[in-house]
Amino acid sequence: MSTPVTDVDALTAFLAQVAHEHAPLVQVSSLGPEDMLISEAIARAQLPIRVVTIDTGRLPAETCALIAQAQARWAASGLAIEVIFPEAPAVEAFVHRHGINGFYDSVAARQACCEARKVRPLARALAGQRGWVTGLRRAQSAERAGITEIAWDIPPAANAPGRIKINPLAHWRDDALWAALRALAVPVNALHALGYPSIGCAPCTRAVAPGEDPRAGRWWWEQAEVKECGLHVGADGRLRRGIALDPARAAPTQPAAHTETQP
Ligand code: SF4
Repeated sequence: MSTPVTDVDALTAFLAQVAHEHAPLVQVSSLGPEDMLISEAIARAQLPIRVVTIDTGRLPAETCALIAQAQARWAASGLAIEVIFPEAPAVEAFVHRHGINGFYDSVAARQACCEARKVRPLARALAGQRGWVTGLRRAQSAERAGITEIAWDIPPAANAPGRIKINPLAHWRDDALWAALRALAVPVNALHALGYPSIGCAPCTRAVAPGEDPRAGRWWWEQAEVKECGLHVGADGRLRRGIALDPARAAPTQPAAHTETQP
């Protein structure tokens, strides 16, 4: 698998192969356009990959509507989107300490909220899985420019098998992504049409002006370099790119157009 995945047929074939080689796998869907296309491929081919999404408790109404729409769309294919939630004690502890909207007060408080509402539920979703599938693309940000389609998320150690991270759309450009979504009539979040290229929790997301960095709408009160919610970062707070499994897939490609998805 040394040719980059750049169309839906190749995406489906790639997912089928990794599902076979690296089971059990889970797709952790942000419900962004990338993840919607990946789930569509999983549903159409009825691949043995679970699909999980995290309801942080602060999602926009439009995102909840998309979850319901997607569940109805893929039910006939046997694909059930598993919605998981934060643990109440963790959220209560954050609110008691920082206030219900305390994430605006400091980067540390914001990261604590993301830890309770996103990172801990993610850990539950990944428990027992050999790998996870994400919608990360190189074109989304400079930080993500070096990601590969498949890499070690956590390398194996003496007593642990490690975990693989699969980014099947790593090389996809914006135009190819949206063309594929339109061709398959895959539903997307209604907020995208209202100037929200990147959609996370409602209080931490705003619309952006045409031409503005898509990431400008996420945690807009913070400096750009800290804008990761913790799902894809290491202990140093920077994006974990992982160690490539297939050197051919780690090779740089031409710069791609820039859009963004959550988380
Ligand atoms: S995006 Fe905002 S509301 Fe959502 S978990 Fe992070 S800080 Fe909390």
